[in-house]
Amino acid sequence: MQRVLLLGSTGSIGTSTLDVIGRLADRFEVVALTAGRNVDLLCDQVARFRPRCVCVHEDAAEEARARLKGDGVKVLAGMDGLMQLVVDPDMDVVVNGLVAGIGVRPTLAAIDAGKDVAIANKEVLVVAGELVTARAQEKGVRLLPIDSELTPLWMARQKTPDDHIARVLLPASGGPFFDWSAERMALVTTQEALNHPTWQMGPKITIDSATLMNKGFEVIEAHWFLNLPVSLIDVVVHRQSIVHCLMEYIDGGVTAYMSSPDMRLPIQQALTYPEMLPSPIDPLDLPEVGQLDFYAPDADRFPCLSLCYAAVNEGGTAPAVLNAANEVGVASFLEDRIRFTDIARVVSGALEDHCNGHDASLEALLDADRWARKRALEIVEGLEN
Ligand code: MG
Repeated sequence: MQRVLLLGSTGSIGTSTLDVIGRLADRFEVVALTAGRNVDLLCDQVARFRPRCVCVHEDAAEEARARLKGDGVKVLAGMDGLMQLVVDPDMDVVVNGLVAGIGVRPTLAAIDAGKDVAIANKEVLVVAGELVTARAQEKGVRLLPIDSELTPLWMARQKTPDDHIARVLLPASGGPFFDWSAERMALVTTQEALNHPTWQMGPKITIDSATLMNKGFEVIEAHWFLNLPVSLIDVVVHRQSIVHCLMEYIDGGVTAYMSSPDMRLPIQQALTYPEMLPSPIDPLDLPEVGQLDFYAPDADRFPCLSLCYAAVNEGGTAPAVLNAANEVGVASFLEDRIRFTDIARVVSGALEDHCNGHDASLEALLDADRWARKRALEIVEGLEN
C-alpha cells in the first residue's frame, strides 16, 4: 500500500488524482490532503478518503477546524503546515498538484525526506530544475512527471538509449488564439483567454496555455525530466490534443503517443509506473477523430515560447525570473490591468533587466523570484499608463 500526500487536492489535478486513487483503493491510501480556501470541497474529500491530516490556507484554517471538528482530522495551515506534512515519515509519495512557484520548497523538503514526488506543478522544475533534479539523484528518490505530454515521454525515455534519440516533440493545442491576428490578440478579453478548446484547467494554467508559456514550461521540464539537451526539444501545434508527444529517432523513424485527452491517464501512469493497469478514460476512436493537424508555432504571435528557450539556455536564475514575471503578468491580465499581449512584455522586460549571478541555490532562486516580482509589477504599472 502506497501512502499518499496530495498537495492541491481541490484543484483540477487534485480532483483527478483522487478519482484515480479512489479506483485503486487496494494500492493507495490518502493520508493527507492540502488545499487552499475551498473548504466545502475539502470536507467532501475528507468524508470520502478519510485522511489523517489536512492543511489549508491560513485564511481558511478557522472554518476548516470548525467544520472538521469531531472527525479526528488534524488541521494544519499555511506553508508551515505544508512543510510539516512533506517530511512526515508516514507517507511514501507526494503528489504535487500545487499551482505556481509556491511548490518549490515543499518539493525540495519532500526529496530531502526521501519521498518520491509526482510533479504536476510545472513551475517547480521551471524555477529550480537543476537544484531539484540534482537533489533527487543525490537522495535516490524518483521524480515522476504528471502531464499529458511528459508522462508518456518520460516512460518512453526510460527504455530509449541517449544515442537513439534525434529529438522529442511536444504538441501544443495552440490555445484559443492560434489563428488570431496579432492585432486581434492585443484585444483579447479575460473571458476569451479562459476558454480553452480541449482541457478544463485552473485560470493560471489556462492563460499560460493561451500564451504558449505553458508549452515553453514543458520544454524546460522536459529538459530536466528527460535529461536531454534543450536543442533536442521542439514544439509543434496540434489542434486535436490526441497526439501527446512524439519521439524522433536517429534513423528517421518517429513514434507518436496517442490517447483521448484525459488527465487521469498520466496521473495513473505516474503513480503506478512501471506497472500498467486499466484506466477509466474513453477509448480512442480514430475514425471519430478523423483528422490530426500539425502546424509550426508562430514565434511572433507567441513570444513566450522563445522566452522559455532563452531562459533555460541562459540558466542560473533566469528561469526563476521568467516564472515570477509570468505569474505577475498573468495575474495583472486577469485583473484587467494589462493586455493579453503585455504578459510577454512583462516577462521579456524582467528577463532583460535581470542580473544573472548563475547561482542555482535555493536562496539565489528565491532572491531572483522576489526581485522579478517587484520589477514585473513596475513594468505592469508602466504599461497601465
Ligand atoms: Mg501538458
